[in-house]
Amino acid sequence: MAGDARPMGAGTPPVVDLRGKRGLILGIANQQSIAAGCARIFAQAGAELAVTYLNDKAEPFVRAVAEPLGAALILPCDVRAPGQLEAVFARITASWGRLDFLLHAIAFAPREDLHGRVTDCSAAGFTVAMDVSCHSFIRMAHLAEPLMPAGGALLAVSFYGSERVVEHYNLMGPVKAALESSVRYIAAELGPKGIRVNALSPGPIRTRAASGIDRFDELMARAAAEAPEHHLAEIEDVGNLAAFLASDAARRITGTIIPVDGGQHLMA
Ligand code: NAD
Repeated sequence: MAGDARPMGAGTPPVVDLRGKRGLILGIANQQSIAAGCARIFAQAGAELAVTYLNDKAEPFVRAVAEPLGAALILPCDVRAPGQLEAVFARITASWGRLDFLLHAIAFAPREDLHGRVTDCSAAGFTVAMDVSCHSFIRMAHLAEPLMPAGGALLAVSFYGSERVVEHYNLMGPVKAALESSVRYIAAELGPKGIRVNALSPGPIRTRAASGIDRFDELMARAAAEAPEHHLAEIEDVGNLAAFLASDAARRITGTIIPVDGGQHLMA
């Protein structure tokens, strides 16, 4: 209907069709997580979902997101815990025998390294941040490949602090740069198998992880002022892009880093 500006959410018709597709989501901490917004849109579009929770403390918050969406599998996964990511893929293999898409929406850096200069970052802090926020995506691609014999879609979540110096983003800048480069290399390697690899790059969104970044409120205010749309992305905006990239409608799109930021990335 012309002029129909209904808010997204219940009752909104799915933009893309994910019926018959099965997806794995890492990164739901609570209802505000980017991964939660993506999970809601994936489910609206008809996908069957497997989701993970970090630990026992996180489990009830993740269940509160996943159960109303009818998630088929809700599994523990701390990517730092030996064997846990492999166990998730073993369970998916046993239950589904294949996977159509996955979303990697996890990041971590130790507070003291995140709040200091990159110049002063410790080897241990750098290693943990890279392991959780980047190498885990490489591991997921490796584990997903045999489950995607007819192709699939791998998605990661980045931030434009990867290519521009964003005050207080610090260590996560180089980490996201490595994640984006990994997206491009894995896209080239898995392209012949029909496995597409892309990253979503939202502007700042108030989440648990974001609260670890110093002066995040100032970052949000600046982003909203700079963005041509003067609106920050919401998690469902990221979800709509994720669902499109996971769908067959995006079948020739791979190796890209796509901003969802109201156009902020355009501004000098
Ligand atoms: P969030 O706190 O809701 O999600 C971060 C997730 O990382 C949590 O679910 C947490 O459990 C998970 N995680 C941390 N360490 C882990 C580990 N060892 N094993 C498994 N999972 C682990 O915050 P979010 O903002 O939704 O973050 C999701 C992604 O979006 C991250 O990659 C983040 O860098 C990225 N991102 C966030 C913003 C923003 O402004 N919020 C902007 C751009 C990109």
